[in-house]
Amino acid sequence: MVTATSQPAETAPISTTLYQTVLTQLREVAALLELEPGMFELLAHCKRELMVQFPVRMDDGSIRVFSGYRTQHNMARGPAKGGIRYHPQVSRDDVRGLAMLMTWKCALVNIPYGGAKGGVAVDPKALSRSELERMTRRYASEIAVIIGPEKDIPAPDMNTDAQIMAWIMDTYSQQQGFSVPGVVTGKPIILGGTRGRTEATGRGCMLIAREAAREQGIPLSGATVVVQGMGNVGGVATQLMAQAGFTVLAVSDSSGGLYDPKGLDIPDILRWRQGRSYLSGYPRAERITNATLLELPCDILMPAAMEGQIGEHNAAQVRAKIVVEGANGPTTPEADQILLNRGVTVVPDILANSGGVLVSYFEWVQDLQAFFWEEDEINQRLEKSMVRTYREVVELAQRRNVPLRTAALMLGVQRVVDAIQARGLYP
Ligand code: GLU
Repeated sequence: MVTATSQPAETAPISTTLYQTVLTQLREVAALLELEPGMFELLAHCKRELMVQFPVRMDDGSIRVFSGYRTQHNMARGPAKGGIRYHPQVSRDDVRGLAMLMTWKCALVNIPYGGAKGGVAVDPKALSRSELERMTRRYASEIAVIIGPEKDIPAPDMNTDAQIMAWIMDTYSQQQGFSVPGVVTGKPIILGGTRGRTEATGRGCMLIAREAAREQGIPLSGATVVVQGMGNVGGVATQLMAQAGFTVLAVSDSSGGLYDPKGLDIPDILRWRQGRSYLSGYPRAERITNATLLELPCDILMPAAMEGQIGEHNAAQVRAKIVVEGANGPTTPEADQILLNRGVTVVPDILANSGGVLVSYFEWVQDLQAFFWEEDEINQRLEKSMVRTYREVVELAQRRNVPLRTAALMLGVQRVVDAIQARGLYP
């Protein structure tokens, strides 16, 4: 594990919580879909929430108690699906909002899952590798009562990765007495992970950026891009967009951003960053803050870091033509309205970052069949699904004269409602 050098946490103010954002979005869509009030109530609540407080022995011998969550929003369309994040600010409300987004996302890309999310309030960079492993295993053991390949399937999210999925898979399997690869996705290939999963979210973001640029008649070669976040989503998307001929003007992480008006040398930055925790210190670009980065003139702005980054405080200064949401919930409803009035197209999270859960679905299917596919088959299926969903969303947006987010949510929410109605209320 790379030891973090101390860096000031540089984040924009979050005025609206993610849960409020997701509820506001649902309220608007429920009106457009003319949902009865009881159906709105049902969708506005999470079906099952587990909160756990658990002890972990630290390397110095002391005991530390952590708070964790696993929340299942809706399971009408199938087992719950969604990531686990490690972040100091993880809260019950965030996890609720993120679980709801997973329900709409899975329904939008039409995979047979409901939505869930989990998290632990922790800064994983402040733990040693063995502390991280013990914390992960104890958290996995605490939530083992509600997860499982037919019930709820976790995956990586912010600050979690294939190694953490491997520990969860092992912990769950030890308790069952046999290997259960299908209990998590995003695990290492050696344990039944799929080819293409690590890159899937970033690849999907790149495909959607390409489709959205084409739609607006922006030539791909030389289209200018600004990316906030260099994690698994932003990092991969940046690399693939640079390879596809886009000009990446700026990138950032929590330590701040790098900018070159002529375009950054992305392969050089990625090489330099290997073995380092942060971008700050890279010598061959101008340093900028995350706040400045979000306001740079460009064709495509990709917020791929935290929720709530584009809000009332800065939406009027965003000078991108298209915003492609790599993160979940990066734009608040107030900002959505400001961007809409200014003619900025926002491609919503549940569409733009759905490549991750799509390839998670392919992984789960391969695990259940114990039959594994080639990488080009996975990438082809990913592209086909994402491009088809993008077209469906654009078509509905045009037909109903609504923004892309509203159209995407209308498609997703309606599918969940249809499933609830087909099943009927029990008893
Ligand atoms: N954490 C990712 C998301 O927000 C992926 C979830 C999954 O693969 O289950 O979509």
